Formats: sequence, C-alpha cells, structure tokens
Amino acid sequence: MDISSILQGGYHHALPRTWQAKQQLTKSMLMYPIFVTDEADARVEIPSLPGQCRWGVNRLEAFLAALVKKGLQSVILFGVPVKSSKDARGTLADDPTGPVISAVKLLRALFPDLYIACDVCLCEYTDHGHCGYLNPDGTIDNTSSVARLAEVALNYAKAGAHCVAPSDMMDGRVKAIKRSLIEAGYGNGCTLMSYSAKFASAMYGPFRDAAGSAPSFGNRKCYQLPVGARGLARRAIVRDMGEGADIIMVKPSLPYLDIIADAAQLAADHPIACYQVSGEFAMIHAGAAAGVYDLKTMAFESVEGMVRAGATLIVTYFTPEFLEWL
Ligand SMILES: [Zn+2]
Repeated sequence: MDISSILQGGYHHALPRTWQAKQQLTKSMLMYPIFVTDEADARVEIPSLPGQCRWGVNRLEAFLAALVKKGLQSVILFGVPVKSSKDARGTLADDPTGPVISAVKLLRALFPDLYIACDVCLCEYTDHGHCGYLNPDGTIDNTSSVARLAEVALNYAKAGAHCVAPSDMMDGRVKAIKRSLIEAGYGNGCTLMSYSAKFASAMYGPFRDAAGSAPSFGNRKCYQLPVGARGLARRAIVRDMGEGADIIMVKPSLPYLDIIADAAQLAADHPIACYQVSGEFAMIHAGAAAGVYDLKTMAFESVEGMVRAGATLIVTYFTPEFLEWL
C-alpha cells in the first residue's frame, strides 16, 4: 500500500475530525425567522412547523430573552396580519402600528445587541397574496411593485432594522431598494440581503400556513426561478451583486447546494446566506418522528452540508436547538 493511500490517520480522533471542515458552524452564523402577528398577545402554534409559533408583539420579550441568553444574535421578522384587512397594495406591510414596525422598535429597545433583519415582500399583506402589484389582467406590474417594495424597505430601515431582505424576486428591486436607502441617508447603516436565487419550490407550504401568504389565484412561477435553472440563478446572483446587494441568499437550501456553491464562487467577496425553509425543517422532523434518523444528527448534517457548500449565514427554524447543541 502506498503511504499516500492512508487517510484515516488524519481523522481517527474527534478533534482532528472537526479540523477537516474548512468552516465550522458557529452560533453567529444562525438567523432565526420569527412570525409576528397583529394580535399583540398571541402565541399560536403552527401545526406544520413543529415547535414554531406566531407571536404577538407583547410576547416577544419573554420568548426572545431566553434565546438571547443562549447566544441568539440575529432574527428575521415576517409580519402576519390576521385581524386587519388586506388590500391590493399591501398597505399593512409598513403600517407604523403594524407587527413588523412595532416589533423592530421593541426589539431594538429590549435587545441592543440583537441584529434585526426584516423580510421585505408584499404577499403576506396583499388581498391577492402575490408578491407585487397586479395589472388588470392579473400579471405583475414590475415598475409599481419595485417602487412599493423600496418604500416598504425604507420604512423598515427608518424603524431601526439593521437589514432589509427582499424575497419577492421582482426584477430591479435590489437597485431600487439600495438607491432609496442611500437617498434617505440609510445606505451606510442598513444591510441589503437579497434573496437572489429563490426557486419555485414545493417546500414553502408550512411557511404559507404560518404567514397566511398563499396566492389566491395562480402561482409564483413568473417570478420565482424554475427548479432546474442553474444558469438563471447564477445570472441573478451576479446581477444582485451589481445592484448593490450586501449579502447573497439562496433559497431553499438542501436541494440547491450546487447553487450555494455557485454563489460562494461567483460572490466570493460577499457573505453567502441560505434559507433552510419550512418544508426542509418539517421534512427533517417528519423523518425523525418516523424513525428514519436521529433529529439532532440530521439537523447538523443538513446544515453542515450548507456550510460545506459555502454558506456563512444560515436562516433556520432549528436556531433555538442549535443554540443548545453548539
Ligand atoms: Zn412574497
């Protein structure tokens, strides 16, 4: 046997096994998605997302204080209006008394070291459930959608968000948001994390339950990427870098590790985020409940695959568990 054929000497012990990874998963790489409703005292469990709830603003302090104590460093907020009536322009998205803006202000005051990102989209707030404005024929009006998204993002920044994260996939929105942040004096104090490569996945179902954002007609295939579209994803990543994105995100994660690796190569000088989406989380829980694997082992394997592919920021519902496990 050649000397060079012996590899096991390098990983025979637990410690050198960890050295084989180029990047270790750390608590600072985790961003926790939080659903905030307009019912201030609500704590409503989401059946399709094990252990996750919709939270009223009044409940956030107790819920998050325990996690911050364990090392939680960042959250991303999603607004879920359940009692207010939605309209065609998504007025509720940046309602000054609505859940997102109220939560940003509260969390900034309660947890000065917590980094707060806001998802920017219209689908949770429009009566039709699409991510932009519609033309009379039901197609998306890109120009007015982008203008509205930039307005919403700016209002989140004004409320104190450290990061705005457009997830709508409208063409040109990154440039419009960056420009509006700069013009209003927020360019240097607000991160723009773009959901650059967001695919039309089957894995968003539990999120739509949680956020009440399923489209009332049609689907999102005219703006979310086709599953096989590696080339489009690469072009979107390059475009969003050019339009001023500070962080590039790929969504979902596990079926798109090649795209995460592409992003890490194309945007080598940017942080690379990936979103372990609701369906991935639910799938891992369901497999563990069925006895297919151990939950913790599988949760680590899934996320370590993303880190290996090049992700430096993981948006995941497993954040509370990882804060315990790490
Ligand atoms: Zn949307």
